[in-house]
Amino acid sequence: MSSYDFDYFVIGAGSGGVRSARIAAAHGARVGIAEEWHLGGTCVNVGCVPKKLMVYASAFTLAFEDSAGYGWTAGEASHDWRTLIANKDREIARLNGIYRKLLEGPGARIYESRARLIDAHTIEAGDERVTADKVLIATGGRPTVPPIPGAAEHAITSDQVFFLEEMPRRIAIVGGGYIALEFAGIFSKLGAETHLIHRRERLLAEFDHDIGRCVGQALRSGPATVHIPEQIAAVERGADGLRLALASGGALTVDCLMFATGRRPNTQDLGLEAAGVSVGEGGAVIVDDAFRTSADNIYAVGDVIDRVALTPVAIAEGHAVADALFAEGGREVYYPTIPSAVFSDPPGASVGLSEEQAQRKGLGIDIYRTEFTPMMHTLTGRDEKVMMKLIVEAETDRVLGCHMVGRDAPEIVQALAVALTAGVTKSQFDRTIGLHPTTAEEFVTLRTKVAPADLPAG
Ligand code: FAD
Repeated sequence: MSSYDFDYFVIGAGSGGVRSARIAAAHGARVGIAEEWHLGGTCVNVGCVPKKLMVYASAFTLAFEDSAGYGWTAGEASHDWRTLIANKDREIARLNGIYRKLLEGPGARIYESRARLIDAHTIEAGDERVTADKVLIATGGRPTVPPIPGAAEHAITSDQVFFLEEMPRRIAIVGGGYIALEFAGIFSKLGAETHLIHRRERLLAEFDHDIGRCVGQALRSGPATVHIPEQIAAVERGADGLRLALASGGALTVDCLMFATGRRPNTQDLGLEAAGVSVGEGGAVIVDDAFRTSADNIYAVGDVIDRVALTPVAIAEGHAVADALFAEGGREVYYPTIPSAVFSDPPGASVGLSEEQAQRKGLGIDIYRTEFTPMMHTLTGRDEKVMMKLIVEAETDRVLGCHMVGRDAPEIVQALAVALTAGVTKSQFDRTIGLHPTTAEEFVTLRTKVAPADLPAG
């Protein structure tokens, strides 16, 4: 037995940290884990989970409207924000309890305090100092607010939006990524006057351009007002709300201003220098392929390494480190077919290469794409389209990317991700019989090649 207090000490009990700690403890390691806020981290408390609950809440608006075409007469519907927040809080508290059990069950000791490294083997957790053979940094990231006059005092981020006591009557959301678009959808459908402000023309730059185009069109044709390209020059509080001076010369008055303009790794005041852990330019911990930092015994996973900031990725990375350190045999984290989604209405989802990524790699590709009105909306009259797209390597016939906008796109694309991981070809898609009548069957009947888009370089 080593002379350290713990075999493994994990800093941060979010998606990556909890998975790594509990797997290591299950492998028989003596594990400590420190969390300065709530167990479960960003995803459970201020990310994926409460966000998806709010997406569900907002989706009823369209369901009430769409039901008319199917013969329903819905009474006047109203929404109570406080009920939603109270029910959401209850569910999150339940999940916090599950995370505690997941850790304590296999014997991990939880420190409910901030932790920092004193040296490579010594950790200060609250008032205690403990030592550990191996250390994992899984401290995640935090939202950033750009240096706009008045923004720091008056704006909120995704860390606060889940706890608003009242639903804002008027809200401006700044950003063009998935979090900004999801919240623009949530608030506009719950009835707030909603403005999305983004400094670039293109929305959802992290996805294939057709996803950004289709999700952007749907948002514009709904109740949100999209201001692109636009920036906020200054924010001040006036008698009737927050006054936003826009760079183009206009102004907006809102009750709430939310920035969803990016996140930064949580590496400040962690004692990284004292422990010999190097960080890159944006503050992310630098790791090798085995998630080992520049300090031999210290590892890092999840958002703090700024590779792919998604919950299942942090979980896979944390699991891989625990297995590599405390079990026989390794566990691969396979990055090429990580599916991702924007839970807008309709949602978008992707797996594999986008058209521009394939072009940048210089690959010879065939692009198959279709856009159509889904059967459901033949009776609702809603002008909503489904978009489906496959990127196929011309030489090998291998499907490199699948992209979809439409109801259930995230559920469909998750299943297709398995096929892409297995190296599926377009002929195998073609040989597969469709499940009728579904939207997903169109993926196995795609026949029409389209010309590549003329995309800007970079
Ligand atoms: P985190 O989950 O952030 O956990 C880090 C933990 O470390 C935190 O609990 C923090 O309090 C703690 N901590 C930090 N410093 C210290 C310290 N010094 N001492 C002790 N504790 C410390 N991902 C998806 O896959 N799907 C989604 O739909 C999705 N939606 C999102 C929506 C929003 C609004 C946001 C913000 C994120 C979303 N994400 C989503 C991303 C996802 O939440 C993150 O990728 C994931 O939580 C990263 O896990 P992690 O373990 O790296 O960090």
